[in-house]
Amino acid sequence: MIKKLWLLLFREELDIQQRLLNLILSAAFVGGTFSLIVTIAIGGYSSAIVTAVLLAVVLVSLYISVVLNLTNVAATLITGMANIVIFPWMYFNSGGMHSGMPIWFVMGLIFTWLTLKGKSCYIMFVVNLIVMEGTIMFGSSHPELIKKMPESFMQQDILQTIAAVSTIIGVIFKYQTYVYEKQRKEILSKDRELRVANEAKSQFLANMSHEIRTPINGIIGMNNMLLEELDENNVDAVREYAKNVNSASQSLLSIINDILDISKIESGKMELVPVEYDLFTVLNDCYNMTQIRAQKKKLELDMDIDKNLPSILYGDEVRIRQIINNFLSNAVKYTHKGKVSLRMKEESRNDDEIVLRIEIEDTGIGIKEEDKDKLFLNFSRLDEKKNRNIEGTGLGLSLTNKLVELMEGSIDVKSVYGQGSTFTVAIPQKIVNKKPIGDFDKKYQAYIKSSNKDVKIPKMPEAKILVVDDVEMNIKVFKGLLKKTKAKIDDAISGEECISKVFEKKYDIIFLDHMMPEMDGVETLKHIQNMESHKNVDTPVVVLTANAIAGAREEYMKDGFVDYISKPVQQEELLSMICKYIPSELVIKDEE
Ligand code: ADP
Repeated sequence: MIKKLWLLLFREELDIQQRLLNLILSAAFVGGTFSLIVTIAIGGYSSAIVTAVLLAVVLVSLYISVVLNLTNVAATLITGMANIVIFPWMYFNSGGMHSGMPIWFVMGLIFTWLTLKGKSCYIMFVVNLIVMEGTIMFGSSHPELIKKMPESFMQQDILQTIAAVSTIIGVIFKYQTYVYEKQRKEILSKDRELRVANEAKSQFLANMSHEIRTPINGIIGMNNMLLEELDENNVDAVREYAKNVNSASQSLLSIINDILDISKIESGKMELVPVEYDLFTVLNDCYNMTQIRAQKKKLELDMDIDKNLPSILYGDEVRIRQIINNFLSNAVKYTHKGKVSLRMKEESRNDDEIVLRIEIEDTGIGIKEEDKDKLFLNFSRLDEKKNRNIEGTGLGLSLTNKLVELMEGSIDVKSVYGQGSTFTVAIPQKIVNKKPIGDFDKKYQAYIKSSNKDVKIPKMPEAKILVVDDVEMNIKVFKGLLKKTKAKIDDAISGEECISKVFEKKYDIIFLDHMMPEMDGVETLKHIQNMESHKNVDTPVVVLTANAIAGAREEYMKDGFVDYISKPVQQEELLSMICKYIPSELVIKDEE
């Protein structure tokens, strides 16, 4: 109750003048009530009536200030009441100039300055001053109207007034200093926070610029070498450089994806997309990705997967891969010799849910005990001097941690500095098929055998595809990815051109870029849907987009696209998208 009242009167969003007025009014209310009780007790009924009227004015002013929030009205009322009515009345009734009244006049005028705002402050001050000086002048020309008081009363009155007025002004001054100091400290601490955030941002930008430059450098350099080798017709070197361009591009993409993911998580826009997935495929892909890096550093990569884990699970497959890959890639990155092991088993399980326990152990540089707290902070990299030559953004673990949190899992780190680290993650996943995953190594060998056979690209010479993109290079890449399918691909470089093409020819599928100048993909699709008698009323339209933010998929579906494919377009994804939407008789799978 007291706390509520305190907040009501002195809450931080009120400005200092309003809080001061409330303070003075509350003090006047408490003091007035006390004096009313005393006056009634000693039988001074006429003074009791005056005090009661004053108390009523104080209460009305409090109501106007606190409830109606009209500070200036309340301040005008109370200062007017004090300076124009009470003080002149007291001047004539308690001994005039020789009493404590002149001190009260000064107090009343200061009070006007303190509680009123804007023009009304100056007006009220002048009015009060005129009334007070008028009172004194009137008193000196009509001394008979001033009630004579005994000398001892006057002295006591002056002493009391000095004590009361100096206390009131002192308290007001202290309160103002308190509020000012509090605000100053808040500003200083905000300033410090902002400076720290700014430093982290600058550090991050510097890191990023380095991280992004490295693969771009690789891409440009490799591409130049590739062009030179092309002139000399050196196919093997060209293949090697092209592969390097590919891997540099992938690492650039993964940095950008990390930044996007962090910003999605921080703005609360990250959503999990649960799907059914094959656990072996996930582990297999993670193994393959890490194996190449481990081999380069001559590290052993060991997989210890519990045979009895269910083979098909339901969860966010993409994020599970991301988590495992991140730990594995760190383990390889921060290990110079020895081995990296991935162990997976069940932590607990019931009929339809399993908590996967994933342990990634390395024999690497380890983490100091005091650094463990910093491990999961954005942009934080440990042992910067020692790890100067190891590339990294400091985003991976922070992102992984947030993803695991989002999946309602947990992370634990054990490490001995100089000897190695073990990261353990526990993540709950739904079970779709309890059939055991079986022996990982055997399955992996079988996979290697089958994958050594060439991956076949389906042929679809009769398929008619339209791709719409305002950037010609994107159209070239798109056509290049589909070259081996022999599909008939038309292109358009604007929404308008797309619209005229849908009147000319029937397509089996249309890929439409979202961001285009003038008419964008969404508008173009609307036009196509609203037009009658063209040849592509039933043609599936897939949106091509670099817009990887969460919720985008649903938005595109609402707009009428059948699906979406994000840029940079990956060949495998593009092929499976086409096979999904065009009539199956157009796809010849077993040719060659
Ligand atoms: P980075 O991109 O720098 O690797 P991470 O967020 O993935 O960023 O990791 C943050 C820091 O934690 C790294 O810079 C490194 O100092 C430390 N770290 C992460 N994994 C390991 C590990 N397996 N062994 C030793 N140190 C590690």
